[in-house]
Amino acid sequence: MLEGLMQDDFPLTLQHPLERMRSCHPGAQVVTLTDSGIVRAGFGEVCERIDRLARALGSLGVEQGDRVATFAWNNQRHFELYMAVPCVGAVLHTLNIRLFAEQLTYIVNHAQDGVVFVDGSLIGILAPLAPTFESVCTYVVMGEGDLDALPNALGYEDLLARAGSDSEGPFQYPELDERQAAALCYTSGTTGNPKGVLYSHRSISLHSTAALMTDALGLSQHDRALVVVPMFHANAWGIPHGAALAGADLVLPDRFLQAEPLAKLIEAERPTIMGCVPTIFADLLRYADEHDVDISSLTNAACGGSAVPEKLMRDFEERHKVNVFQAWGMTETSPVASYSRPPETGAHDDAYWTLRAKQGKPLPWVAARLVEDDGAHTPWDGSSTGELEVRGPWVTSGYYNDESGEDRFDEGWLRTGDIASIDEHAFIQITDRAKDVIKSGGEWISSVELENELMAHPDVIEAAVIAKPDEKWAERPLCCVVMREGAAADAEGLVEHLRDRVAKWWLPDEFAFVSEVPKTSVGKFDKKILRKRLSEDALEGRVKVRA
Ligand code: AMP
Repeated sequence: MLEGLMQDDFPLTLQHPLERMRSCHPGAQVVTLTDSGIVRAGFGEVCERIDRLARALGSLGVEQGDRVATFAWNNQRHFELYMAVPCVGAVLHTLNIRLFAEQLTYIVNHAQDGVVFVDGSLIGILAPLAPTFESVCTYVVMGEGDLDALPNALGYEDLLARAGSDSEGPFQYPELDERQAAALCYTSGTTGNPKGVLYSHRSISLHSTAALMTDALGLSQHDRALVVVPMFHANAWGIPHGAALAGADLVLPDRFLQAEPLAKLIEAERPTIMGCVPTIFADLLRYADEHDVDISSLTNAACGGSAVPEKLMRDFEERHKVNVFQAWGMTETSPVASYSRPPETGAHDDAYWTLRAKQGKPLPWVAARLVEDDGAHTPWDGSSTGELEVRGPWVTSGYYNDESGEDRFDEGWLRTGDIASIDEHAFIQITDRAKDVIKSGGEWISSVELENELMAHPDVIEAAVIAKPDEKWAERPLCCVVMREGAAADAEGLVEHLRDRVAKWWLPDEFAFVSEVPKTSVGKFDKKILRKRLSEDALEGRVKVRA
């Protein structure tokens, strides 16, 4: 082999974006919404605080490879931890604040976290669990909060003040290997215990670079990114790291995630980019429809985490001049692996929207394939489906200290558990989670497609479709829907609405009119709970209908 003569040993570590924040974009801003209004800091000032934090981590005895946990909303201090912890060689473990108590205990003990940084506003949730954490020696409270509620608790600002500043000589970050672990996130685990995905400096660096691609999120120094997707979920889709690299402003809503404060924040701060799940976008749309508020600065909102209804994207564009694009990914894929940006050929006609409603093309460096039950590869014809498998430098190769014995890999490819088709333009369309598909009379019915078509009805707020056991067909779709107040449509009306939109044998013969679709800790429809209610005959509002 004739080796190339490039500087291939230049490490892809987060120390590089940190340095760029300091030297290339000191004026870029971190904006946080707080109880007492907006707090702003320039990247230059934030870097100075990150250096102090890096020093402070040393004083707490944190060493390379140690896990440092956060239990926090999206705010400036959390961002400081995002940079400081990996840059000293330790591992940032973002705890999902919405998990059940037993899962949090399991995760902290499994990760062997030594220090936990907790928002003062979240102490009430964390403190009762502290006695169950085996490895935690120190808590650091961020913002106002009762230090006495936790053992060995320090205040974040005190810690930084005591850590000193660059006047004592600049902080010397250690030399790191790009393959070194930088961050740890646990999957929200629909079966069994949550599993840890351990990101490396290299994987985060490459994934953040992808966040700057125009065919993906397209983050640049001219953007302001509103990060609604939690920083405790899959690195907030890489937006904080991408913003550091690009020099984009970060707008962080802390715990103010309801439609009203978000809409007001958008109107006041004029972000260009935003990332969050469809349920929050749907709330924002309802609010913007009913109030006089200008959210049109959002020229590039990214939505994902579950399928994004086409109608939601169309309504945003037509009524508010907001472009919402769909992304697909998983905690295991850092998370963004595909993005739906069809070519702009002029008017947004039906063909364009058909592509926009798909999950999009795999990003550069992400390889995708579809595999059938017998191992055969599914053709990319836009209709044949198989399990989606992916490979790439920001896709996990295994789980951290996994004891489950479950094998999610196929010749080095990650089996995603998503069923999909891929068309001739390489646009992926997720038709279901493998465990959510409905098999009726030996044929597949896509619950995602039925949900999208139902949510296109003006009276339907939410729709989650699950399989119902059926003597004749093995399974039939049962549509759990939340109707708008004062809705005129009933079950028959919904079937009529679906009649021209889906195959005849997909038409549901039963609905459950529920007051709310239960959600998981990361805001997705929790069909597990609906299935459980169905099996226990506890599902409310059931109505049979003749299709
Ligand atoms: P998580 O690891 O919690 O982010 O969940 C990943 C899973 O969310 C994927 O395997 C998909 O099932 C689902 N998901 C994420 N984005 C989308 C999307 N745009 N459309 C459909 N499903 C999605």
